[in-house]
Amino acid sequence: MAAAVTLSPEIRAKYEAVIGLEVHVQLLTGTKAFCSCANRFGAPPNTNVCPVCLGLPGALPVLNRRAVEFATLAALALNCEVRERSIFARKNYFYPDLPKGYQISQYDKPLAEHGRIEVPDGDGKKRIGITRLHMEEDAGKSMHEGFADSATRTYVDLNRCGTPLIEIVSEPDMRTPEEAYEYLTRLKEIMLYTAVSDCNMEEGSLRCDANVSVRLKGAGRFGTKAEVKNVNSFRFIRAALEYEIERQIEIVESGGRVVQETRLWNAGEGRTYSMRSKEQAHDYRYFPEPDLPPLIVTEDWKAEIASRMPELPEARRRRMIAEYSITEQDARTLTATRAFADQFESAARAAKNPRRVANLVQSELTMRLKATGLELEQSPISMKGVVQAADLAEEGKLSSKQLKQLFDLCFERSEDFGPVYEREKPRQITDSSLLEKMIDEVIAANPAQAEQYRKGKKTVAAFFVGQVMKASKGQANPALLNELVAKKLDG
Ligand code: ADP
Ligand code: ZN
Ligand code: MG
Repeated sequence: MAAAVTLSPEIRAKYEAVIGLEVHVQLLTGTKAFCSCANRFGAPPNTNVCPVCLGLPGALPVLNRRAVEFATLAALALNCEVRERSIFARKNYFYPDLPKGYQISQYDKPLAEHGRIEVPDGDGKKRIGITRLHMEEDAGKSMHEGFADSATRTYVDLNRCGTPLIEIVSEPDMRTPEEAYEYLTRLKEIMLYTAVSDCNMEEGSLRCDANVSVRLKGAGRFGTKAEVKNVNSFRFIRAALEYEIERQIEIVESGGRVVQETRLWNAGEGRTYSMRSKEQAHDYRYFPEPDLPPLIVTEDWKAEIASRMPELPEARRRRMIAEYSITEQDARTLTATRAFADQFESAARAAKNPRRVANLVQSELTMRLKATGLELEQSPISMKGVVQAADLAEEGKLSSKQLKQLFDLCFERSEDFGPVYEREKPRQITDSSLLEKMIDEVIAANPAQAEQYRKGKKTVAAFFVGQVMKASKGQANPALLNELVAKKLDG
């Protein structure tokens, strides 16, 4: 999919990339930013519209209080300073999906500035600065496809006009596509935890424009940047940046100059295309919106909003690692969504061994979800089911093989662990005399290992347990088996 690479690694290594991201996030309010139309994706075209969002003469905007609260919560979660008095401005441009002829945005007095997101950097962390976070409204949508006469016509759907957005602009602090990917992942996670957006990229509720330039390593000044638009997944953003970095290096290497422009990513071809030369701020003729007063976020209001801040993902991971003695990787999986982390925690607190619950999620559950293409939320096995399985394993009532078989059945039949276990409750060999007989046979068949054990290599016990488990087709009661093997070997 990615376009051919012609750069030699030596040449590539002479350069470094500089990346800054502009992310638009739609806010999950019930109504639009400046009118009472429903803010909802997927309604029939042009049904959620009114004189305000259509920009009919005489209609006046009224700012949505919830939108301000969401924007402020997001800003605080990104460690931004929230301005007490911010100003809405008109950003003027002509486009069929923008009936007003301008977008209400914020310009030189944005809601918030000077934030940061931390991304992993080797064993440590690297801080990516956030220049600003401002509020604005979305435009409508041009529909180029899907109609009988699409070859000759473009339709417009104005339902999206006036949807509240925040735009989050990063500093040019990222140096690799991987860092950009991490930044976006962290950003999305924070938006989801604060529940200000559903961040659904397919539906456009999170959109990212990627700015990238290249320079010789050690050079003081930045090179000329290109802006890549139209990239609808984080993986594609990473791929688009990789492509764009090589394209720019090739230009510079061959003595040319990168032009400042907007480029479109084509996922099918794995490359970017020039779309238009980049607008300058003055092209938009920004001026203060005369129909809206300054937005005032008082200290009291800010404090009230801050008091609703949930525990954020990174803090939550640190706490969970300590509280349940789980690994970083476990914590990442378990905090993938806030709802899932909540479920895990309420379940883990009741579990005999939370660590085992985490392991099961991380290994057996995740593996099966991947194989069946399901998301965590779609898992047939609930957290309660995972805890039940973990507890049974912990008590030695379920061997790992039996557990795997039961998990397989759950996925085959789309049933939770509880009912499957009740029905299929594996027959276990709990008869000591039968197990002892099997152990004797295995010891007799492996005299060398038995000798090692007697000479003090106690870990060999696990070998015998494994052999008997195998001979019993996974049905030996694990706790009892462990006990009997030790007894036999010691005796
Ligand atoms: P513009 O005026 O072209 O919109 P901005 O200065 O507002 O440019 O920056 C837009 C985005 O581009 C920001 O995220 C910023 O970090 C990033 N950026 C700015 N200069 C560069 C550069 N030379 N290379 C890569 N990214 C850059
Ligand atoms: Zn409206
Ligand atoms: Mg700009």
